[in-house]
Amino acid sequence: MAEVYEIKDDAGIVLEVLGADVELAGEPQAVPEPTAGGPEPVVTPQAALSIASRASWGARYPDGDLTLTGLAVEVFVHHSVTAQLSADASIAAEAEQMRALESVGQSRFGTGISYNVVIFPSGRAYQGVSWNRRGTHTGGRNSTSRSICFAGNYETNQPTAAQISTAAAIYREGKQRWWTQAAPLYGHRDVSQTACPGRNLYARIDDIRAGSGSTPPSPGEPGGLVVDGFWGSSTTRRVQQELGTPVDGVVSSQSVAWRNSNPGLTTGWEWVTNAQGSRMIAALQRKIGMDSGDRDGKIGPQTIRALQRYLGTPVDGVISRESRAVMALQRRLNDGRI
Ligand SMILES: [Zn+2]
Repeated sequence: MAEVYEIKDDAGIVLEVLGADVELAGEPQAVPEPTAGGPEPVVTPQAALSIASRASWGARYPDGDLTLTGLAVEVFVHHSVTAQLSADASIAAEAEQMRALESVGQSRFGTGISYNVVIFPSGRAYQGVSWNRRGTHTGGRNSTSRSICFAGNYETNQPTAAQISTAAAIYREGKQRWWTQAAPLYGHRDVSQTACPGRNLYARIDDIRAGSGSTPPSPGEPGGLVVDGFWGSSTTRRVQQELGTPVDGVVSSQSVAWRNSNPGLTTGWEWVTNAQGSRMIAALQRKIGMDSGDRDGKIGPQTIRALQRYLGTPVDGVISRESRAVMALQRRLNDGRI
């Protein structure tokens, strides 16, 4: 049996919990790895949401302290007051933040990560404590509520549109799965003496409540990329990892002459008038079989044509929006190759 130490107030309400996450005897769910904790939420094939699993970010500690039955009756919005990542942060950086957040909860309560789901400025969402396990997010209400946490500090920063959209989608989807249809959405500060979730996010709670909620981008597996055909910093980081060049998400010193004709090249491209080229592009030129004399480290029609030939996509020498070549590249990167 699980050994659980509860910290209660005078009314007997559980404020926080200390205890090891030992599965109760006779629980129906199989737990393949001790560190995986309780069961993952059931994700049906037609599910609109894509929330990265605990395994995807490398959860190491218990999944809450006990299994909750029944639907939650309240939902709370929080902020983590941890690192403020950018909207184009890599999945690896987000996963690292999830592990850092888990360490905080573990050191305080011994029951792993505190929140049910964590949304980053990219709009990607990660499973924290499973929907049917009790976390340590909203003191006194952990058993009857669930939590949606925005990674970062929203007293001082603004939530991104992608974050609001993802939160809206989760709140809406949860009414079918994790909480009652009537479950209200509150800010943590509505029930506790805290600034959480920060004034800028608190001001957007009506938007989350009312939002239509588009489908958040799929985080995929660790190191995975969203296959969207846009070559931004996340894609660059993965290319740099595969090619063994410095990983910073930046394609340095590229000729501005090619910027407008290649709208599929987005964040992290350094467009200059006197281009010197980048180590990553030079390594890529080598990888895709360009002659040594042509490896100048600069993107341009010749390199793009060679890349398109290499990837087996139509050869036109430009990277358009939702580029088929970039999608092919992203798929290959997700397979661990170029
Ligand atoms: Zn909070």
